[in-house]
Order: sequence, then C-alpha cells, then structure tokens
Amino acid sequence: MLRPIGRQCQFKSSASVFPSGCDYTGSSVAPEKTSPGKRSFRKHRSPAASANAWTQRTSDGVCTLQVNALNKLPWLVHGFSTRPGGVSALVGRSAVAQEKVEQVLNLGFAEWDSRENVLENRRRFQFALGAGEFALISLKQFHSDVVHVFETAPADPCRGDASVTNQPGLLLGVQTADCVPILLVDPRRRAVAAVHAGWRGTLQRIVIKAIGKMQMEFATKPVDLLAALGPAIGGCCYEVGTEVASAFLARFPNAAEWFDELRTGDEPDPLQWLSMMPPGHQPPAKNVYLDLRKANRAQLLDAGLHAKNIFASDLCTACHRDLLFSYRKEGARSGRLLSVIGIYTIFVK
Ligand SMILES: [Zn+2]
Repeated sequence: MLRPIGRQCQFKSSASVFPSGCDYTGSSVAPEKTSPGKRSFRKHRSPAASANAWTQRTSDGVCTLQVNALNKLPWLVHGFSTRPGGVSALVGRSAVAQEKVEQVLNLGFAEWDSRENVLENRRRFQFALGAGEFALISLKQFHSDVVHVFETAPADPCRGDASVTNQPGLLLGVQTADCVPILLVDPRRRAVAAVHAGWRGTLQRIVIKAIGKMQMEFATKPVDLLAALGPAIGGCCYEVGTEVASAFLARFPNAAEWFDELRTGDEPDPLQWLSMMPPGHQPPAKNVYLDLRKANRAQLLDAGLHAKNIFASDLCTACHRDLLFSYRKEGARSGRLLSVIGIYTIFVK
C-alpha cells in the first residue's frame, strides 16, 4: 500500500441560503431564520486562516483534506472527504446546482442514494487516500458516548460514535454532515481513533472518553496525541436552543465561551440570557450559536493534549456547500462526509 501522490486543488466558497428542514444533531432548534439582514454583521471565519496546517489534495477527481502534521507519519493514512467527485446524483437545491443534478461523493447510506453508489464512492475515496486495501469500519452512529475497540473488522456495523485501534489494515471512519469529525493519533504507541461529536456527543465528552479508551488499551499518553478536527458547522451558523446552552453550562465551567447569542442589534446585553433573574422575570428565551469545534478543542486541552498538536479546520459545512455537505442546510437529501484514519501494514517513506 503506497501513499498517494496527488496535486492540490482549489475551491470557491459559497454562502447561499436555503430553508432548513430538520436538525441532523437532534437539537430542538427552530428552523433557520429567513432574515439575512439580522445576520449580515456576523463574520464568517476564513478557511485560509489555518491553510498552512492543512492540504487539499485531489486524486482521480476526488478531493480530500489532510493535516500536514499527520501526513509526516509514514505508517499513517488519514483524510476528510469533500462533496465533489462521486457517482451519486443529488437532485435539487444545492450551493452549486440549483434544481439540477449534481454528481457528489456521498459516503453514507441514505434513502435518496443507492447502496451501489455509496460503495463506489467509498472505493474512490479510499483509493484517493491510498487506502484501497484497508477494511473500512463505519459505525451506526446515534449521538452517544459509546467507544469501540477494534482488533478486526466486524461483520456488521456496531452502534457507537467512536472507535479506536492499533491494528494495521483497519480504516476507522465517522460520517458527518455538520457534526465534528475528530481523528486522533498516538505516534508513540501507533494507535488511532475516529470520533463523531455532535452536540450530544460533545456534551457527553465523547472525545475524552475515546482518549480514555486509548489510555486503557494502548497506554497512550495524551501529551503524545495529535488531533485533527475536520470540517463541521461553525459557530457562525450552528443555531441551537438555550436549553442546549443550559445543558453545557451545567456540565462545563467554561461553556459560556463556546456560545454566542443570536443578536438583532438592539440588545444592550449580548449575554442577557445568562443573567440570574427571579422566576417570571426572565427575558424571553433566545437561540444561541454553538461553536462545537471550540468545545471539543477545550476538551482535548483538558485531556492533556498540547495546543500545538490540535489541528482544527476552519471550514464551515453550512457556509461551504460547494465543497461540503450540511444536513442543517440541505435536510434529508444531504450527502455524508467520511473521515478516516488507519495504520499501514507495510509503509514506505
Ligand atoms: Zn458558517
């Protein structure tokens, strides 16, 4: 199994707006606000901010995102998928093809797509990464804190939201379309993990539990770990109800740093909803914005990782729908991104 030789590719950003259907992460949020004027002042972070830590690589028409620091490990394969380059036909409103058929790299089984298409897309994605011979292990994700240890590939997908292994030839994968995919690697013990962190998983500290499993199984030391947080819905777009904020505030002392209130421009106190007021005198509940990557980055630091070893993509799935999939924006007909990590049986430098 040789590492792929690819070339860098470029994407144009897009931020067109469509009404949302339901919430992929299970939050009880209201539908997306339709008044762009209220949001126009909000700054969307530029993907170029961390461009030097990441590489966009294309091979046979499939573009992948990788972290340069992880690419330096010759025994490791990893990658985050993107939207274009597949065989799945996505009809309807998208960022790049309104009411047209768009060929996309959907890597998750969905009602709107055929199993054959997904398997072909997965084959192309793995081949593009140089992981064509790996056994892909994907999970039946359900926003839990369940972590699996794999020594071999199971016959049927397990229910869970994180997996760890130190066995070569296994490709751990998580599917996302707004949630945070997190890949972990222990260079010293040669062990890896893949974690799916939506707001429910983040609330349950799933990434910390995955690290705990690596400590138990492989004697991993968190200070050795490298972490890659892939494209996810950003704090610019991820609107949640205040009950979500309350749940985080009850469990994390620094949770207020991960939220930003939905502002209309006329509130005197941007954190008014945090104020302690007697019953019956609270201001009306407002929705807030949650930065899931910031929350998970904080958990990684709490677990003992060095800040310099945490690599978080700036790409927002909702802002960049020409490049990524967003369930929040596209609803049930959204595709799925796949993030994978594995250990080569035989490696070349
Ligand atoms: Zn955004």
